[in-house]
Amino acid sequence: MSAPGFGRVLTEHMVTASWTSGRQWHDLGLSPYRPLPMDPAMAALHYGQTIFEGLKAYRQHDGSVGIFRPDAHAHRFARSAHRLMMPELPTPLFLRALEELIRADRAWVPDRPNHSLYLRPLLYAREAVLALRPAREYQFLLIAFVAEGFFNNDLSPVSVWVSTEYSRAARGGTGDVKIPGNYAGAFAAQAEATAHGCHQVVWLDSAERRWVEEMGGMNLFFVHGRGSQARVTTPPLTGTLLPGVTRDALLTLLADEGIPVAETPLTVDDWRELAARGEITEVFACGSAAGVTPVGTVRSADAEWTISGGRPGPITRRAAHLLTSAQRGTLPDPHGWVHQV
Ligand code: PMP
Repeated sequence: MSAPGFGRVLTEHMVTASWTSGRQWHDLGLSPYRPLPMDPAMAALHYGQTIFEGLKAYRQHDGSVGIFRPDAHAHRFARSAHRLMMPELPTPLFLRALEELIRADRAWVPDRPNHSLYLRPLLYAREAVLALRPAREYQFLLIAFVAEGFFNNDLSPVSVWVSTEYSRAARGGTGDVKIPGNYAGAFAAQAEATAHGCHQVVWLDSAERRWVEEMGGMNLFFVHGRGSQARVTTPPLTGTLLPGVTRDALLTLLADEGIPVAETPLTVDDWRELAARGEITEVFACGSAAGVTPVGTVRSADAEWTISGGRPGPITRRAAHLLTSAQRGTLPDPHGWVHQV
């Protein structure tokens, strides 16, 4: 197969399950990938009661197939459901859905470097109801597609635009769960970033407009210092950024290596000044879709700066290697992150 891109090459099957009040979860099963019937009054379309996840299955170094941290994604899926007053899919059912799809579409899991099978669980309010209340009928779906590295496969750095016009999430809102509205709301900021010649948006907090939160659909890491003095920070989970599963994995993997890690807030002004003084030496973003992606150039309305001479630094390379090794099973798995199917 030539370049599959992202989300273009869907597999042959899907898994569905239903939830109706009174019956709870029922009819979880595999079927061929197919269009779905839809009532024009379906609640999900009107009021946005929809949640999703994104995780990956990797061809392991021994040829088997492993899903990376599916229970962590199941927990976040349940948290998202809870936030939107939707029924939580129990973790065993979430895992069963993944296993059924992988068993049917195992041949689709690529074995090329930087390629994987992206799994997309989705839950939406299927009830035809226009009353403003949580629906009483829901549909679970699991589909999958062949994915290659999102931005690049060679750790070339991306440029980022610090948006002060738009914000992604506010305290008490829905920024810490995975719902479509968070992404639709981000498109305008992404267009602004593109108009300024940047690949991605960096989000600031919505209250003071100075604390760095995350980047597009990825969490951010900052490397302070060099060599044996290097330490790594990432913004804390204030409730307005998505708790990334990859973020959590990297905090663990870097700490396992003896590299000091901390969840520490950083303002955009400090980012610029510390980078100018050579104290912030590397910056990278991470997520399930793109893995580890170095940040090279940062642009805002009144400034522009470059990190690490626009090249991926040693800790970024190390983080990328540790993550890929954990996902592909080339390292021992002390945390039990790979779910073999
Ligand atoms: N932040 C946002 C806004 C995201 O959409 C994602 C992707 N789910 C992430 C961070 C990274 O999360 P994960 O590592 O779980 O993919």
